Amino acid sequence: MSNDQAIKYSLTLDPSISKSATRDHPQPAASLPEAKKTNITPRGSNGDENASIYFIGTATTILEWEGIRILTDPNFLHAGDHVHLGPGVTATRQTNPAIDLHELPRIDAVLLSHYHADHFDQEVEASLRRDLPIISTPHAKECLVDKKGDDKFTDVYDIDFFQNMMLDIKTPGGGEKAPAIKVTGMPGKHVPDGPLSVANDLVGAVPPTNGWMVELGYKVSDDSSFQSGYRIYISGDTLYVNELEEIPKRYAGKNIDLMLIHLGGTTIPSPKMPLLMVTMDAEQGIKLMQLINPDVTIPIHYDDYDAFLSPLEDFKKAVSSAGWDDKVVYLDRADMYKFAVKQ
Ligand SMILES: [Zn+2]
Repeated sequence: MSNDQAIKYSLTLDPSISKSATRDHPQPAASLPEAKKTNITPRGSNGDENASIYFIGTATTILEWEGIRILTDPNFLHAGDHVHLGPGVTATRQTNPAIDLHELPRIDAVLLSHYHADHFDQEVEASLRRDLPIISTPHAKECLVDKKGDDKFTDVYDIDFFQNMMLDIKTPGGGEKAPAIKVTGMPGKHVPDGPLSVANDLVGAVPPTNGWMVELGYKVSDDSSFQSGYRIYISGDTLYVNELEEIPKRYAGKNIDLMLIHLGGTTIPSPKMPLLMVTMDAEQGIKLMQLINPDVTIPIHYDDYDAFLSPLEDFKKAVSSAGWDDKVVYLDRADMYKFAVKQ
């Protein structure tokens, strides 16, 4: 299989090295707590699931495969905690994460869609191990490395739209096929186009954001080409914008197995003054399902903050009336979704 673009960065992840996700807890938990409920594809399976996604809350999930754990958009605040999303823009958390930050098992890398406090909160920022690899936007990289002394994050990778990075996974025996994860930045836009004066006032509060294509697969030893065995599209905090239409073009003929979609219809500056929607609501979510056409869609980022004004119920209704109930899996916090990465 050919790679569309040169790999911008490569990083080797070694599951035998056990390091805590946080800097003050040297001994990480051995594993994730048992899931409250485990789901598989509604279309039935062959019982060969070998990878999983554990839903912590907001856009925070843990992807586990081949001994590697990738944490997305870490947010571990609790109900009642506040986040500052920019000048005059705050939100209050309504839910608790499935696990606490200090209960995390070993984490190998973080995938951060954008540098915003409901995706990378103040406690996460203070506590994460500084040499934990973080893959994010160019804007986030600037913020994460622009710190004094020991507070500086030292292993940050900036990936722009359609740039990619290879995460090689070290396996004890080696072998003909080496597991690897290819991460490609996908377009995303938090603020709609157009001469919207409100947007102009608020735009400073809203950082640039990425979506991701995460491909779990194998490198063949002869020529190091990468074969994807499972494709996950993560929307990030985007609205439905024209730029997203580039995605099915670039992945024409390639199956998207799973979509993690950030919904919620996040509206700023506050629930009392809802002026500008910055993430998709139910209607846009349905449009994105139509565009990307994944086998399975899992909504995340839907009820954790009071700024989320589009309830999951709206999306559920829209899915049902589109006749797509067998294409969507609903996860509650602490639920898991298991799937099979093809060899
Ligand atoms: Zn968000």
